[in-house]
Amino acid sequence: RRINIAIDGPAGAGKSTVARMVAKALKYIYVDTGAMYRAVTLKVLESGLSTEDNESVGRLANELDIVLLPGAETQSVHVNGEDITSRLRSLDINRNVSYVARLESVRLRMAELQRQMALEKGVVMDGRDIGTHVLPDAELKVFLTASPRERANRRHLEMGPDAEITLEQLEQEIIERDRLDQEREFAPLLQAPDAHLLDSTGQTVDEVVKQIVQWGLA
Ligand code: C5P
Repeated sequence: RRINIAIDGPAGAGKSTVARMVAKALKYIYVDTGAMYRAVTLKVLESGLSTEDNESVGRLANELDIVLLPGAETQSVHVNGEDITSRLRSLDINRNVSYVARLESVRLRMAELQRQMALEKGVVMDGRDIGTHVLPDAELKVFLTASPRERANRRHLEMGPDAEITLEQLEQEIIERDRLDQEREFAPLLQAPDAHLLDSTGQTVDEVVKQIVQWGLA
């Protein structure tokens, strides 16, 4: 029996690493919905549109052909045929993505694409509103979290020695992004009532993955 698994939680909680490994263990498809919002944000910044302009940004989002290609290590993201994966993690996108993601026009379009990807079941989807809004019928829902300092620390380590931002600055930016994601009107970051809460502070990735796979097979 194939199921759908929704993994939501704040920035840097380890959702994408964990979701990818759970998908691999179960031979499921991994869908990183944050990458989709990042892709739209890249195009918004390139086009010079205001992140407040619901109508124009919505039109742009509707015209984009966004394709997620599952790979062994990372999922690659193609927009209108171009591989933009390596450009999605910049500070500029980090700082703007939550403004784009709070536009209802953008969210409606992304949710539509995400539901299409989950039609066949056997999907592990990570995001902010998957269990509450995109896939309310997902058979397994997990809300993955960790302390803000630990989340900032993980992201900072990923950036390596050339990080253009200090750990403290990054922690503040993560807290601000979570606030925007929680306070937006449409489909905010929220734990679904039927989601398992999993606090990964002090836990290894393997422990977290094992727990979710167990729930998935139960
Ligand atoms: O997961 P990631 O950090 O890549 O997500 C980037 C941003 O995209 C989040 O901070 C949030 O603003 C937005 N997002 C969202 N809904 C999702 C996934 C991501 O609003 N399902």
